[in-house]
Parts: sequence; structure tokens; C-alpha cells
Amino acid sequence: MRTLTCVVIGAGYAGIHAVKEIRKLFKGQVSMYPLRLVLIDKNSFHLRKVLMFRPAVTNEDIRIPLTTLFPNGVEMVEATVSNIIAEEKKLLYVDSLGAENELNYDLLVVTAGSVIRCPEPEQGGTALTSLENAQEIRSLWLTNLKQAASENKPRERERLMHVAIAGAGISGIETAAEFAYYARKDAKQLGLDPQAVKITLYNAHQRLFLDGPAKVGMKLDQLLQDIGINTMHDKRVIKEKDGVVWFSNGEKQPIGLCIWTLGLLPNPMLSAMGLPVTTQGYVHVDVSYRVADMTGVYSIGDCARIVDPINGHVDGKTCKEAIPQAARLARIMLADLEGRQAPVHESYMKSFSIGLGPDKGLTWVNKWGLDFVVTGKLSWKIKMYTWDTASMLTN
Ligand SMILES: Cc1cc2nc3c(=O)[nH]c(=O)nc-3n(C[C@H](O)[C@H](O)[C@H](O)COP(=O)(O)OP(=O)(O)OC[C@H]3O[C@@H](n4cnc5c(N)ncnc54)[C@H](O)[C@@H]3O)c2cc1C
Repeated sequence: MRTLTCVVIGAGYAGIHAVKEIRKLFKGQVSMYPLRLVLIDKNSFHLRKVLMFRPAVTNEDIRIPLTTLFPNGVEMVEATVSNIIAEEKKLLYVDSLGAENELNYDLLVVTAGSVIRCPEPEQGGTALTSLENAQEIRSLWLTNLKQAASENKPRERERLMHVAIAGAGISGIETAAEFAYYARKDAKQLGLDPQAVKITLYNAHQRLFLDGPAKVGMKLDQLLQDIGINTMHDKRVIKEKDGVVWFSNGEKQPIGLCIWTLGLLPNPMLSAMGLPVTTQGYVHVDVSYRVADMTGVYSIGDCARIVDPINGHVDGKTCKEAIPQAARLARIMLADLEGRQAPVHESYMKSFSIGLGPDKGLTWVNKWGLDFVVTGKLSWKIKMYTWDTASMLTN
């Protein structure tokens, strides 16, 4: 039997799990379907995107070399895919040295993910959109603290030690909670009063946690307050300029550091690659993750619009969705090769686990129409396990 080439584009959570699951399933079928697996990513590492706030508050490295995740059996290509020519079953890419290349595939999995929304340059502040920006935030904060330590004017010291988190989705909440812990620790180390560090989370909506019930949003509010975070609802930050944040209602607030956490957008490269995308920019797939009009091409994770055929629910853009999608995808691909009926998408149960600093969290699960909430250390342990499993550090 001819060796099939299966290429996976993107080594985020969906991509690494797709590689793992395809490899596992096809290994058992090795005589039938000998497989060459190729993983292409812009980077030589898997970025633990869910921990993007960590380098903003500590020196933690959130990159995992791909060769550590897949020491053998998977070819790695560090390159940016620019085009998919479906009629010729080939893709074009630009490698890390800038050279253009092409690669033929039999099976292709697109897991090119999402990008973190950036404010406009004139809106100021710093957005938590990349490793480099996270490191810049850390450096700006430490500079502020050093200035505060030698500042005689109380109001200016107060401004320097006030951090604004603009955007109160899950990444904003988690970033605020991590800041509340580590920024106070940094202040103490410099001989400053840790309680003088002010963290304000600005929420453009009327409550937290729009993905779940209001009572869980209120619980989150309380837990944030307990760890010294002031949450301001219905307060849309429009810009930061010269140490002042401005709100849509015309009010303003002096601030030492403004961090934008504005959520995710579909990867803008998807349509440029030639993939069929929805009006919102997500890849069009059927209930078995097959890309419309592209034989042998599949897409899962943040970049695809995946709909449950039973209840019409559109899958969320989180790891807990991407990981079961990857396991199902491997079975779908094998079924398609064998000409059998392939499995179809099923929604994952409604649940969220939100980290609230280095030892606390809130986990919400909706099952049988009931809401289950776990908080404190147990929730934090669930969260840690989820983060590690998502990056394949637990197996
Ligand atoms: C701050 C933050 C906190 C979050 N917290 C949570 C959480 O607690 N729990 C949770 O479940 N989810 C969380 N999410 C969402 C989660 O990160 C995403 O759902 C997840 O990253 C989706 O995985 P993915 O593999 O589809 O995409 P991504 O992780 O975005 O990976 C896409 C990969 O594709 C690569 N790529 C893109 N374009 C190309 C190209 N043209 N050529 C080659 N490579 C390419 C990228 O380099 C990247 O490695 C969080 C997101 C953020 C930003």
C-alpha cells in the first residue's frame, strides 16, 4: 500500500491532539494505511496560549518545543502556510529562512487557530496578544514599581501602582487574578505596601461570565473582590493616553498600566490560504469536520465553525472543545478512507474552569439542566490538570 502523507497545519491545542490521535489510530492500521505525518507551524514550539498571562507576571516560559512533544514519528516543518491548492492536493509555505516551498498531501488537517484581538494603535495601552507583549507588560510593571518606590507624591505613586485590565472575559478575569497575586508580591519585594497595588477589571458588559448563568457571574465577582480586585461593570475603556484611561461615557481615570484583554478573532490567514470561510471568518466544515469542496481536507479547533447536528449548538472556541474534536477527527479520517459512515460532531458538555491566581479557581459544569460550581483549591487543581492535559504534559 502506498504511504499516505497527512499534513497538520498548526501546533496549537487542536493540532497537537490531532497529530497524537491520528498517529495512535493509524498505528493500529499500519499495514493498511502506512502514514507519513507532517506537522507545520510558524514556530518550532507549542505555545501554551491559555497561560499567556503568566509571562506578564513571572518569568515562566510557556513554550514547549515540538520535538519534546513528538520526539519521533512526526516530521516537523517550521513554516507559515500561505496557500492550499486543493485541486492539486498541495500546499505552499514559506519556511523560517524565507524560502518558498510546496508540499503534497493526501490528507490535510487545518488547525490554524485564532488570533488575540488587538486594539487600534491610537488606543494606547498594551494588549496581551503575544509572548513578547506579555514580557513587555512585565517590564513596564517593574519599571512602574521602581518609580513608585522613589516617588514622593502620593497621587503619582498611587497612579503608578494602579493596573487596569480592559476586557473582562475569561482571559481578563484570569489576568487580573494573576496580577493581584504577583504584582503585590513584587511590591513587597521592593519595600512597597502590597495593599497599595490597585487592580481594576473594566467590564464593558453588565455582568461577568456571559457564557454561563448570572449567579456564577456574581460568584466570580465576589471571588475577585476577595482577592482584592475591583470589578467595574458597564465601563468600556476606549483608550489609554499619557497615564490616563478614558471610558466611553467620557469619564477618565489615572492609571500606571493598561492591559487589553479583548478575546479572540479567527485567524485572518484562513481565507488567504484559499479555504472557504463564513462571514465571520471561520472555516466552513460539515458535521464530520470536512472542509467544503476540498477533498481530503478537514478543519477543527478555533479556526472552524463546528455545529452540533442534533441541537444546532455552535462549538465554543476553547481547548475543551478542540481536544474531543481531535479524537473524533482521527476516527472520521479512517472511516472516510475505508468508505464507512464517519462519526459526526457532538457538543461537549457546558463547562468552564477559570483560574483565579496561583491557588484558586472556579469550575462550573451544567449537566442534566443543573449548575454545579466548585471553587477554591479543588477548582484550581482541576484547572491545572486541564491546562497540562491540553498541552499533553500529563501523558
Ligand atoms: C489568554 C487566553 C486564555 C485562554 N484560556 C482558556 C482556558 O482557560 N481554557 C480553554 O479551554 N481555552 C482557553 N483559551 C482559548 C484557547 O487558547 C483556544 O481555544 C485554543 O488555543 C484553540 O486551539 P487551536 O489549536 O485551535 O488554536 P491555537 O492555539 O490558536 O493554535 C494555532 C496554531 O496554528 C499556528 N498557525 C497559524 N497560522 C499558521 C500558518 N499560516 N502556518 C503555520 N502555522 C500557523 C499558530 O502558530 C498556532 O501554533 C484562552 C485563550 C487565551 C488567548
